[in-house]
Amino acid sequence: MTHVVVLGAGLGGIPMALEMRNLLRKDERITVVSNSDSFQFVPSNPWVAVKWRSRDDIVVPLAPMFKKRKIDFNPIGAKQVHPDKNRIELADGSFLDYDYLIVATGPDLAFDEIEGFGPDAHTRSICHVDHAVLASEEWEKFCADPGPIVVGAVQGASCFGPAYEFAMIMDTDLRRRKIRDKVPMTYVTPEPYIGHLGLGGVGDTKGLLESAFREHTIKWIVNAKVAKFEAGKVFVDEVNEDGSDKASHELDSRFTMMLPAFRGVKALWGKDGKPLPGLTNPRGFVTVDKTQRNAKYGNVFSVGVCIAIPPYEKTPVPVGVPKTGYMIESMVTATANNVRALIDGKEPHEEASWNAICLADFGDSGVAFVAMPQIPPRNVNWSSHGKWVHLAKIAFEKYFLRKVRKGIGEPIYERYVLKLLGIDRVRDKPTQPTPPKSGVAA
Ligand SMILES: Cc1cc2nc3c(=O)[nH]c(=O)nc-3n(C[C@H](O)[C@H](O)[C@H](O)COP(=O)(O)OP(=O)(O)OC[C@H]3O[C@@H](n4cnc5c(N)ncnc54)[C@H](O)[C@@H]3O)c2cc1C
Repeated sequence: MTHVVVLGAGLGGIPMALEMRNLLRKDERITVVSNSDSFQFVPSNPWVAVKWRSRDDIVVPLAPMFKKRKIDFNPIGAKQVHPDKNRIELADGSFLDYDYLIVATGPDLAFDEIEGFGPDAHTRSICHVDHAVLASEEWEKFCADPGPIVVGAVQGASCFGPAYEFAMIMDTDLRRRKIRDKVPMTYVTPEPYIGHLGLGGVGDTKGLLESAFREHTIKWIVNAKVAKFEAGKVFVDEVNEDGSDKASHELDSRFTMMLPAFRGVKALWGKDGKPLPGLTNPRGFVTVDKTQRNAKYGNVFSVGVCIAIPPYEKTPVPVGVPKTGYMIESMVTATANNVRALIDGKEPHEEASWNAICLADFGDSGVAFVAMPQIPPRNVNWSSHGKWVHLAKIAFEKYFLRKVRKGIGEPIYERYVLKLLGIDRVRDKPTQPTPPKSGVAA
């Protein structure tokens, strides 16, 4: 009996399992292995950190849904994958064999790469719901005794949207509490300019985000590398465009949140702590071709943040390319079709569209962008802002959580609304993109 294993049950793993189940026959088996018994909607973590959401609002237990959808579920977690033996070593020492493996393990958060970094040291994090809950407790203490904030991302980071979001969400929350005047804020980033986002900007994200920061009195330092964090201090080295030293800053901070660089999770590394040859790149991200398939292990596919994508361009301080929700879902659809094709003895041919749709919430408004495809040159390069972005983000949260609770593979929203905008998940059918009517087209 063919056995497909999906490793990871996050934003990529859950739709992956549901879409794959839809394409498998009754006598074909699918198992999801996660290291948690629940799903967390990561994009809502910034709201948890300021107590606009509770943990329970954005966490969904998975066993009942998977049972209903006839998907085996194992929340023990993987210790190590053995792609040469077609098996996964689980955290309890047992083994699970597979015919096809789809890796969707998300990021390992590389806090250890900078002294004093991370929720166990001197900074707060919004990357995991448990971190966000901890941050919310610190946020209450901070608001009782406010001071300077440093927010942003460190060298090698790839996920910038949530850093901008969190800066603006904190600003909104502080204004509501009427203590914004007591909080100098500085955004620190390796991006070469505000709004670069690891993508060379999208539409006019540079103008929109710079303007938002100016209007909200948020200073910034770009081309920045963090040397270390201490209690109440962030040590930042700023470089010139040619990479030479420009200035060193010792910033006071009473509340610091910076996004870390990502790497592949431990289970994807060899026992010697080195990348598994052929499976991952040197950072432990799974290498895949355009069909999401690994070149060495032809029965291994990967979707989500854990795949290797080279940087879009060389920058004075390294930045990675973000992997966002809709782009991940496009990887999922292509992978499900390609695994089905292989089971049927055909060659995989579907390519993910890698279109990026991103909603950066500011708490009462926001900035949205559509990059089709994500890497330039693009057919659509559009950004806009307004209150509708905040509402759209709430709608996205409700829609995705409903999808996970009910176990829905592809609901109406994706099938019709995004198609209306000319946004397709897979590339094999040519599309005629229609940019949304308002906003900045470039
Ligand atoms: C704070 C934040 C906000 C974001 N906001 C947005 C947004 O608004 N819009 C957007 O499009 N994108 C957003 N992103 C980017 C991206 O969409 C998310 O990071 C998304 O969660 C990535 O999905 P994923 O499935 O790759 O990883 P994850 O959602 O992190 O899922 C990984 C899964 O793998 C499991 N796992 C890990 N290790 C193991 C193991 N050893 N064994 C078994 N299971 C394992 C984890 O438990 C988890 O279930 C955001 C990212 C962050 C960090």
